[in-house]
Amino acid sequence: MMQCPSCESNVTFQKELFRGAHCEVCGSMLFVPATYSRVLVAIAIITAEALLWAGNIRKLFYPALGVQFGFLASLFLGFPVAFLILTAMVRTIPHFIPPRLVGRQTRTVTTLGLIP
Ligand SMILES: [Zn+2]
Repeated sequence: MMQCPSCESNVTFQKELFRGAHCEVCGSMLFVPATYSRVLVAIAIITAEALLWAGNIRKLFYPALGVQFGFLASLFLGFPVAFLILTAMVRTIPHFIPPRLVGRQTRTVTTLGLIP
């Protein structure tokens, strides 16, 4: 279970939290921390590449593209696959590993105060 950082009430997970959602109790903005999202993205990409590697998908490209470009093509194919995995992950993983919600998203731009 996740908690609102301002009023400490329990927050049920919804995927909107990745973009920012209001706390139902106190109304403050809640976000899944950027680090959490980045870790999910990293895991999705690694899983996708590992799946393609294990499935020997790259070898399908070798006859047409050669080893080097076939390898690159399978790497690029990893991104749409990673996206699919990520879509499934953002709906499931937070139920098992709840993120620590933050009141505002700390991105480099906001840290530098470029956006008022
Ligand atoms: Zn709250």
